[in-house]
Amino acid sequence: GAVIGILGGGQLGRMLAIAASRLGLKTHIFEPGADCPASHVAWKTTTASYDDSAALRAFAESVDVITYEFENIPTSALDLLESLRPVRPNRRALAISQDRIAEKDFLTGLGLTCAPYATVQTMDDLAAAMAKVGTPAILKTTRLGYDGKGQARIMSPQDAPEALASMQGAASVLEGFVNFEREVSVIAARGLDGSVAAYDPGENVHRSGILHTTTIPARLSPSLRSDAVLVAARILNALDYVGVMGVELFVTPQGLLVNEIAPRVHNSGHWTQNGCAVDQFEQHIRAVAGWPLGDGSRHSDVVMENLIGADMDRVPALARETGTALHLYGKAEAKTGRKMGHVNRVTQRKG
Ligand code: ATP
Ligand code: MG
Ligand code: MG
Repeated sequence: GAVIGILGGGQLGRMLAIAASRLGLKTHIFEPGADCPASHVAWKTTTASYDDSAALRAFAESVDVITYEFENIPTSALDLLESLRPVRPNRRALAISQDRIAEKDFLTGLGLTCAPYATVQTMDDLAAAMAKVGTPAILKTTRLGYDGKGQARIMSPQDAPEALASMQGAASVLEGFVNFEREVSVIAARGLDGSVAAYDPGENVHRSGILHTTTIPARLSPSLRSDAVLVAARILNALDYVGVMGVELFVTPQGLLVNEIAPRVHNSGHWTQNGCAVDQFEQHIRAVAGWPLGDGSRHSDVVMENLIGADMDRVPALARETGTALHLYGKAEAKTGRKMGHVNRVTQRKG
């Protein structure tokens, strides 16, 4: 059988490896950090840096196709890997999602709507950006931000100097603050043959910039629900994408705005493990391995809750709940803000 190479050995890599093994496929993880969650379940793990071209080469030569669980793969590593094996999703999807400006330019170029935005490097840029997008606004580093890190809120222009200083010289983007009614996301997949399958949109609640819960189905009118799925399909087709993508959306009175896209399986798609016959992890493996996409229709309603840091103390009680599926990542230290696992609370499908 084929061997799937996965860049990144965190919980997403781990759940991809579990899904692959259910399909009889082996996984080889490439991860700089020792004792990563995915290494406990994968066929092989290479612990090496992305600067180690010999290790990258050996990794690539041992697999049939390469995918990833995070979008910040160094360009030099990607150059080498791509010369040896197919990398799915493709490089353009990676390049766009690595850079918030490129991402917003791409999305608005497709005719989709984002929050108003402007590029910022200096204090003069920030003043001009505030004049363009107004306040309140959010300043975000263009690269490497996740879980709300690398962001500063600007409630009024007097917050600007401190916000800019917190970017530590990194290129950033100022986004107008969106007074959304709710946040939803669409997890969608595109196969090697160009077929697209989207999961039902989920409704997301964040706490301190980190995803707290995803509730399925989202409260959305039928027309917004189909808009959400069409937005995702348009993005996947435009990128000639292969694999699963997470598309984060803001619901506003004027319709949907795209917040950001993630070229990988997504935390807000974890509900699919207990709500669908084929979950996002299996769907991603199917896509990158060139299999037909599976049935992602929802058979149950689900509330997914992330277990972060000290939430791990609740595991004994959660393990006694009826209708609750526990998914723990096997991480040693329950540090503050660290995603340790999640639960899917499953009820009968309503709508
Ligand atoms: P992720 O872990 O999802 O990759 P991230 O660090 O890339 O997070 P964003 O998704 O940009 O961060 O923002 C995190 C959260 O902050 C959003 O889900 C939303 O709740 C809020 N947020 C971000 N941008 C805006 C905005 N322009 N207006 C209002 N709220 C926003
Ligand atoms: Mg993000
Ligand atoms: Mg986000």
